[in-house]
Amino acid sequence: MLLKQNYDVVVIGAGPAGATLAYELGKKGIGVLVLEKEKLPRYKCCAGGVTSKAANLLDFDISAVAEDVICEVAFTFNLGNPFLGQHSEPLIYTVMRDVFDHFLMQRAQRLGAMLMDGKRVTQIQLGGDSVEISTADSTFRSRLVVGADGAYSIVARELSMNRGIEYITAIESEIVVAEDDLAKWKSRVRIDLGVIPGGYAWVFPKRGQLSIGAGCRASRARHLNRNYQKFLNSLSIGNYTIARSGSHLIPTCTEGRLVWQDRALLLGDAAGLTDPLTGEGIYNAIRSAQLAAPVIENYLTGAAGGLQDYQQIVDKKIITELRMARTLAKYFIRFPRLVFRILSKSDRVWRAERKVILGETDYAAVNEEVGGLKGILGQLLRL
Ligand SMILES: Cc1cc2nc3c(=O)[nH]c(=O)nc-3n(C[C@H](O)[C@H](O)[C@H](O)COP(=O)(O)OP(=O)(O)OC[C@H]3O[C@@H](n4cnc5c(N)ncnc54)[C@H](O)[C@@H]3O)c2cc1C
Repeated sequence: MLLKQNYDVVVIGAGPAGATLAYELGKKGIGVLVLEKEKLPRYKCCAGGVTSKAANLLDFDISAVAEDVICEVAFTFNLGNPFLGQHSEPLIYTVMRDVFDHFLMQRAQRLGAMLMDGKRVTQIQLGGDSVEISTADSTFRSRLVVGADGAYSIVARELSMNRGIEYITAIESEIVVAEDDLAKWKSRVRIDLGVIPGGYAWVFPKRGQLSIGAGCRASRARHLNRNYQKFLNSLSIGNYTIARSGSHLIPTCTEGRLVWQDRALLLGDAAGLTDPLTGEGIYNAIRSAQLAAPVIENYLTGAAGGLQDYQQIVDKKIITELRMARTLAKYFIRFPRLVFRILSKSDRVWRAERKVILGETDYAAVNEEVGGLKGILGQLLRL
């Protein structure tokens, strides 16, 4: 049966971006319809690292859904001896994304957002005064549509907004280990910089398992599986079972990325807003939603400004920062051994990185602090 239903805002995708937008609009008294293709709670292939800077964006506490609280990052180069980056306060919260994303969505529902899960959007059509959004059995008409539908966004594809994106290929397994093995990882994340050419490998501890993964630029992913296996074998974990395993793309945007068009906005991964240096995407998923909410409110109430304001704000507040991250990622990819040496020899670099994780500074400020490329080269010569 084909239903025609009218809404002010239809959000596609109930990940951190879509759920946060529904929550932020709910706070403003604006009800939205969220269409999600999976039944919630749904698994998402992700290390589930929510940095303190991401957690601090939210005006509620996430500790109820945190699996572990990370205060130490063990960096290694090509499976060698670690450099331990430590902090007395939480750096990262680890979460299982099915639980975390559902938790965010429930917050939005309490403020009036309507969720229809198990509804895959198959078509979007922009009209003169509305947008038509179709699923297999329904059509929804809306004043505007928001694509928060992740790396394989149908909104971006249907509206030809999927240009200017580069991809990181990532693989990950949820590995169930014995309790004494798990205890060794408590409060500690492991990052190896050399074992995956053009990327890195990680271990993120959860309550009953370890999320172990690896990622690199899609163009260099030919041996990703083999190198991932090498990393896994090096961890000397006793008996383990793989509860779940998968691969997924992480989208990062390049110059001139379009995040707005006519009656459509893109958020989070759909807009390609992950950090090209770290692969962190939850922060900008939440942030882009928070930047979109007041623009949407203005649009619906007929106040000054239009939806195009979102493009300008994202360019200024997110893309500029991602451009800096992209530059840093180039050094990281080309000179991982040197990056590790600088990190392990200079307390200044870890202190700067820690501040970025905590949200106390950004890449632009760090770049200035270390004196840009000249400063980095100076550091290298001194080592
Ligand atoms: C292996 C891996 C590890 C990662 N680790 C981290 C990490 O530790 N920390 C971090 O910050 N980031 C990490 N990321 C990135 C992070 O997962 C994403 O950036 C984040 O999920 C983006 O949130 P989002 O809401 O934009 O999209 P998503 O979380 O992908 O949500 C999109 C939603 O849209 C739904 N959807 C898709 N298509 C349709 C459709 N046609 N109709 C209806 N619904 C649809 C999906 O089912 C999904 O629920 C990792 C990514 C990968 C692949």
